[in-house]
Amino acid sequence: MPTFVYMTRCDGCGHCVDICPSDIMHIDKTYRRAYNIEPNMCWECFSCVKACPQNAIDDRGYADFAPMNHSVRVLREEAKGTISWKLKFRDGTEKNFVSPIRTTEWGSIKCSSDYDAPSDEAINSQELAHEPDVLNIEGGLPTLKPDQLKQGVI
Ligand code: SF4
Ligand code: SF4
Repeated sequence: MPTFVYMTRCDGCGHCVDICPSDIMHIDKTYRRAYNIEPNMCWECFSCVKACPQNAIDDRGYADFAPMNHSVRVLREEAKGTISWKLKFRDGTEKNFVSPIRTTEWGSIKCSSDYDAPSDEAINSQELAHEPDVLNIEGGLPTLKPDQLKQGVI
């Protein structure tokens, strides 16, 4: 669901540009408003949608993913510490979700260059680079034992 910007709401603050991991939110030099330069490269991470103080960013569903078509609106309310999502389908169905805003401070997450480079053998691992460290799991990711895979075993 790539994003797009309502130009009349955007004030060009640039938060979406700073946060986009795909570097596709840019500020138009003439209009001083943000726009998605390459929707096909959108990770659909919704970081820009949540970060926008003007609620100026929306997303559109791909036809195969959302055949009934729908809109997704997001409202970030700092005072309440919540983000509210409203999904409205073409048949009128509405779904509403509220979740807490993450309290991780801006700039407090280590960037990949702050970690030691992975060893050559790491390419054969099932884990992503530094995954146990990032998830605070010592000794690797938890896995199911073969007998736990049997149907009915809790
Ligand atoms: Fe960038 Fe994520 Fe927004 Fe897509 S959803 S434009 S990848 S921040
Ligand atoms: Fe515009 Fe919102 Fe991006 Fe700021 S974060 S530049 S208001 S779209």
